Amino acid sequence: MPRQVPYVGYLALGDDPHLIANECSSCGALFFDRRNACANCGGRQFGERRLANNGVVRAFTIVHRATPEVKVPYVSGIVDLDGGGTVKANIVSIDPEPGSVKLGMKVRLTTFPIGTDSEGTEAVAFGYQPA
Ligand SMILES: [Zn+2]
Repeated sequence: MPRQVPYVGYLALGDDPHLIANECSSCGALFFDRRNACANCGGRQFGERRLANNGVVRAFTIVHRATPEVKVPYVSGIVDLDGGGTVKANIVSIDPEPGSVKLGMKVRLTTFPIGTDSEGTEAVAFGYQPA
C-alpha cells in the first residue's frame, strides 16, 4: 500500500478516515484552520474534536467551468455534519445534475486519491457521497 498524505491537515486517514476540527474551549465554535482567537467569543484556548462522518447537504452548486485538468461538471457542496461542524466539499458518486442532489440529503464522508508524486506518495482528498 502506498504511503498516503491528506490533502488538508484536518483530514485524518487510516482505517477510519475522519475530520478533526479545532474547538473553542469557551464556546464550542469549530474551526478547521489554526486560530489565535475564536471568531465567535474571542477565546484563546482550543482543543481537537473529531467530527461525525455523516451529515446533510445544506447547499450545493454544480460547477461547469474549471481549469483544463479539472473534470466538469461536478457538485460543490456545503455539508452540516451530525453533532456539529460545517464543511465545504464536493458531493461525489452522484450524477452532477440538478435533480440528483437535494437539500437535506444525507451524505457520508469518503476519501479518494487525487495524485501521486515521483516517490509514490499518494495525496488523498475527501468528499461526501449519498449515505
Ligand atoms: Zn469561542
